[in-house]
Amino acid sequence: MPDLPPLREIIARHGLSASKALGQNFLFDEQLLGRIASIPGDLADVAVLEIGPGPGGLTRALLRAGARVTAVEMDERCLPALAELSEAFPGKLSVIHGDAMKLDHDALMGEPYAIASNLPYNVGTALFVKWLGGQSWPPLWTSLTLMFQQEVAQRIVSAPGNSKFGRLAVLAQWRANAALSMKVHRSAFTPPPKVMSAIVHVTPNDMPAGVTFKMLEQLTAAAFGQRRKMLRQSVKSVSGALEALDRLGVDPTRRAETLSVEEIVEIARELS
Ligand code: SAM
Repeated sequence: MPDLPPLREIIARHGLSASKALGQNFLFDEQLLGRIASIPGDLADVAVLEIGPGPGGLTRALLRAGARVTAVEMDERCLPALAELSEAFPGKLSVIHGDAMKLDHDALMGEPYAIASNLPYNVGTALFVKWLGGQSWPPLWTSLTLMFQQEVAQRIVSAPGNSKFGRLAVLAQWRANAALSMKVHRSAFTPPPKVMSAIVHVTPNDMPAGVTFKMLEQLTAAAFGQRRKMLRQSVKSVSGALEALDRLGVDPTRRAETLSVEEIVEIARELS
């Protein structure tokens, strides 16, 4: 294994003061980074897409685990530090300078790949929904290992009946398994964010037949957009939804958060 300088030294040498606009909160604890890189399982010779490597803390942990990493970073100030890392792991790291929101990740990777990222909070949820919303299923990505604000992570893994259960949970769980793998204290980051963080691990599951992501999104947006209201009120803007509840025998006086993911999928199927 190449002997790498401490991450703090990399930051100082390349003048990488954290930019708030780019959602930069860096991780320096190499033990913690190693634990995060172990969440997806054995990465020996596995293709990994990392969004937002920054100075390369998680990147080096992924490389040490044997992964072949493609890292997409928007901040050009980080590129020299990442080039050094690429030299230390010849042929194992390719760095793309760009905005992850604008790239076609499947085309970039061209083979099954795991995604691992300490996501910038400002784009985290949008990227997550993009990965979950792919047309073909199972997707080319084999797992997602993603850092979120703890509150968002809890919403992703929450179960029906919980006040956090909503659109994100349904979109994450209707054709994938989502689990909370690790909580990360705010003090682990430099600079520390205002809130606690947590890592979510997602793996694709079988896709229920006869349902489109688009319909599920439309239904969940309506049902959870007015989550305190009864279904007969909240989903009436979705054409045919009240009739679908009737046909399926779902009590229209229930509120969305009492429905199971399966019931929501059933309603979406009836509408698709
Ligand atoms: N992975 C590093 C770590 O764990 O220390 C840095 C994580 S920091 C929370 C998020 C990183 O994402 C920053 O380096 C930031 O420049 C980068 N970033 C922000 N928006 C991005 C985007 N749209 N596409 C690619 N990278 C982005």
